[in-house]
Amino acid sequence: GGEDQEAPALSQAELKKQSMQEVRRSLPIFPYREDLLAAIHEHQILVIEGETGSGKTTQIPQYLLEDGYTKGGMKIGCTQPRRVAAMSVAARVAEEMSVKLGNEVGYSIRFEDCTSERTVLKYMTDGMLLREFLTEPDLASYSVIIIDEAHERTLHTDILFGLIKDIARFRPDLKVLVASATLDTERFSCFFDDAPVFRIPGRRFPVDIFYTKAPEADYLEACVVSVLQIHVTQSPGDILVFLTGQEEIEACCELLQERCRRLGSKIAELLVLPIYANLPSDMQAKIFNPTPPGARKVVVATNIAETSLTIDGIIYVIDPGFCKQKSYNARTGMESLIVTPCSRASANQRAGRAGRVAAGKCFRLYTAWAFKHEMEETTVPEIQRTNLGNVVLLLKSLGINDLIHFDFMDPPPHETLVLALEQLYALGALNHLGELTKLGRRMAELPVDPMLSKMILASEQYKCSEEVLTIAAMLSVNNSIFYRPKDKVVHADNARMNFVVPGGDHLVLLNVYTQSGHSTQWCYENFIQFRSMRRARDVRDQLEGLMDRIEVEVVSSQEDSVPIRRSRSGYFYHTARLSKGGYKTVKHQQTVYVHPNSSLFEEQPRWLIYHELVFTTKEFMRQVIEIESSWLLEVAPHYYKSKELEDSSSKKMPRKQGKTKEELG
Ligand code: ADP
Ligand code: MG
Repeated sequence: GGEDQEAPALSQAELKKQSMQEVRRSLPIFPYREDLLAAIHEHQILVIEGETGSGKTTQIPQYLLEDGYTKGGMKIGCTQPRRVAAMSVAARVAEEMSVKLGNEVGYSIRFEDCTSERTVLKYMTDGMLLREFLTEPDLASYSVIIIDEAHERTLHTDILFGLIKDIARFRPDLKVLVASATLDTERFSCFFDDAPVFRIPGRRFPVDIFYTKAPEADYLEACVVSVLQIHVTQSPGDILVFLTGQEEIEACCELLQERCRRLGSKIAELLVLPIYANLPSDMQAKIFNPTPPGARKVVVATNIAETSLTIDGIIYVIDPGFCKQKSYNARTGMESLIVTPCSRASANQRAGRAGRVAAGKCFRLYTAWAFKHEMEETTVPEIQRTNLGNVVLLLKSLGINDLIHFDFMDPPPHETLVLALEQLYALGALNHLGELTKLGRRMAELPVDPMLSKMILASEQYKCSEEVLTIAAMLSVNNSIFYRPKDKVVHADNARMNFVVPGGDHLVLLNVYTQSGHSTQWCYENFIQFRSMRRARDVRDQLEGLMDRIEVEVVSSQEDSVPIRRSRSGYFYHTARLSKGGYKTVKHQQTVYVHPNSSLFEEQPRWLIYHELVFTTKEFMRQVIEIESSWLLEVAPHYYKSKELEDSSSKKMPRKQGKTKEELG
């Protein structure tokens, strides 16, 4: 017998597993496990409210699995508004269950499916679950759907509310859980016919809030100074900084690293870690590593760290009070990303991140007056400030024709809905009765914006689908292709110039993709981000895989750019013409400018189509391509009158064709 034998020392892996189980049991949700399961058993729809970090996202699906909800291969689906959250949480849960990510636990985000036949816990973006309705309208393979982070009120989450409420009526066996941070839960309950609310009491330590005396002129610089001040003067504890996007975050991290280098051994070690949506996943994972003793960690994050991800050990929060928001003008149909003050609800969530493990401090880089008078109470739901083209197309393909009477929690503005219908009609996706056309059905198959899917489908006619697929893929990894480190700006810009071909930015992107050959060495030498290229290739592969389904033959235009630019005319909403000092959009005469990064910044051709508008210091068009006005009449005769497209001068636009590099050099 082995009774008197010494127990073998636990292996590293077993130790880790044990401590992870301890962490699981220490989460605020754990004491409520049985009550929660009982409530789920009793009610079909349950709203669950709990402080960020209480364990909703990582624990509830595991509890359900342990309770038998995946018997017979049924799945538990959990939606997340953000890609990063879906990936990161799935990875964490796979680790807690000691399974390989992609087996029992997986995730599905646009252009990336990390699930298998065996997957029973599926984390996914809300947009992906929406697309699953196309293939499985009653979600028959799911026993439970968790709509997580419901308070974020993304467009896709809001649409899911309506669809899931509807299918729950004829699928009494389906459990629906609506999980949210401590916001808005009464409204969710009300929407779901007074579903009960299960509250998980949070543990929260007090957070002291500090305001600035005067507004900050440069909040980025103010963040950097605040981080260093905390680092030098305050007791141990990690720092979380909220910025609005990748560019700001990278700039902030660079500044911090540079100043720490200069201070050298005069200060303790400061680990600077960024987190944003496009950050490669191995880098994302780093924010969760425990801080080594004696050092301090500073995580520089987008809104993602507000409620979607919990980073343990944060004691200090720095909040400049801004976020990047989509805004939509339903009159002109223009959508743009704007940095705006965040809401008071957001600011309070941010502050809350400082009080999870101990009493904390939140430094607001704005005045107390601004908090009271310049910030909105809550964030406006996305459905009320975005283009609805995508969602309307999807709902139409699900057979939902009467959108005016769809069960919206907060209905979109009437004009926005009407404009979406008009645009889909103009694109040929709907007929004059508002019914889906064959083209519309094919467009809905592609997981991209209607204008982009129209471009892909138009490429068939112009015989350049090969190139257009590449461009579509490159556009989807937007703005992260070119690498421009601060200390090598000149080299990077020169490298970029080498890719310029006539015609516009889309052709430059195509040129980069074609030349790259997907070699790391090549990318490194040419200041191209290898990871973005790899992602573009994945996206392209997936899109190409769908071409069969929508019956588009993949053929090449053989280096002629005209057909490519013509396919692009599907973006006829995004047309601008040169006028004094800048450009004017054709339909609404709004003044816009070519982005300084564009290959056409200096050339200023007469007619342009842009991929998107961003508002920074001005309204900039990003990713522009030169077109001829006559093409617009050809693709959208119902949208343009020839008068609108007359050139002011009688001279015809010089005809340029994008040629290959050999012909240029
Ligand atoms: P909620 O959804 O209620 O905000 P989560 O389930 O996301 O809470 O997180 C619960 C806890 O799980 C966190 O406090 C943290 O300790 C741990 N955790 C979550 N995700 C990760 C991760 N990727 N790495 C390490 N720990 C994590
Ligand atoms: Mg969560």
